[in-house]
Amino acid sequence: MSELLSIDGITVSYGSITALRDVSMHVNEGEIVSLIGANGAGKSTLLKAIVGQVPLSSGSVKYKGDAICVSKGETHSHSLRTDQIARSGIALVPEGRRVFADLTVEENLDMGAFMVRDDALIARKKQEMYDFFPILGARRRQKTRSLSGGEQQMMAIARALMSSPHLLLLDEPGLGLAPLIIQDIFHKIRLINREDKVTVFLVEQNARMALKASDNGYVMENGRIVLSDSGAALLTNPQVRAAYLGE
Ligand code: ATP
Repeated sequence: MSELLSIDGITVSYGSITALRDVSMHVNEGEIVSLIGANGAGKSTLLKAIVGQVPLSSGSVKYKGDAICVSKGETHSHSLRTDQIARSGIALVPEGRRVFADLTVEENLDMGAFMVRDDALIARKKQEMYDFFPILGARRRQKTRSLSGGEQQMMAIARALMSSPHLLLLDEPGLGLAPLIIQDIFHKIRLINREDKVTVFLVEQNARMALKASDNGYVMENGRIVLSDSGAALLTNPQVRAAYLGE
C-alpha cells in the first residue's frame, strides 16, 4: 500500500506553547485513519499543519511523495500555500463545521467548488451531494443556520467533497452531536471512503466511533504520538480502553 500522506518529525509551537512535538505518522492510500486524543492534545493543530495553516518549527509533511509543508530550516524545498494544498487534492472539514450560516445550502456548496471552473461539473457534483445527502437536497434553498447540527456537519462534508478531493481531513465530525447522528455521519464517511475512493484522516474525541471506522489509528497525548496500531487493535488495547473508552 502506498503512503499518501507522510508526516515526518513535525514540531509546532504557538509562542511559548509547544502544541506538537516531533510527530510522525502516515496515511496509506485508500485508508481511513483516525487520531484520537483528549481536548487540547494537539489534534486540530496537526490538521492545520497539514494544510499549511500553522508554520512548522521542524519536520515536514509530504503528500504523494512531495513536500507540501516544511520547516523554515529546510533549504532544498518550500511549503505550498493553503490554496495550492487544496488544489493538490486535500480538503479539510474544520472543527465546528464553519458553515456560512447566512448562505443557503446550495450557496455553501458553490463555495466549496470555488476552484472548479466548469459549471456543468459543479451542477453534477451538487446533484451527487443531494443524492448522497437527501436532506441537503430537500433543504437546498434554506439558510444554513436553520439546519440542525448533524445537517450542518453533513453540509460541511458535502462542501469539502465539491472539490473532488483525494484526501479528506475531518476535525471532530461528531462534535456536539447525538450518538445516533454521529453513527449516521460515520456511516457516510465509510461510504465516501469505500465507494468514492477518498482517503480519510480524521481526528476525534469520540474514540470508539472513530476507531471502529478506521483501518489504522494513532493516539496523541500532550502533542506527542504515544500509540499507533490498527483500529481494531486499539479498540481492545487496555490503555486505550481505560483512557478513551471509559472502561
Ligand atoms: P480540541 O479538541 O480542544 O480542539 P486539540 O487536541 O485539537 O483540542 P489543539 O487545538 O491542537 O488541540 O491545541 C493544542 C494546544 O495548543 C493546546 O494547549 C491549545 O491551548 C494550544 N493552542 C491551540 N491553538 C492555539 C493558538 N492559536 N494560540 C495559542 N495556543 C493555541
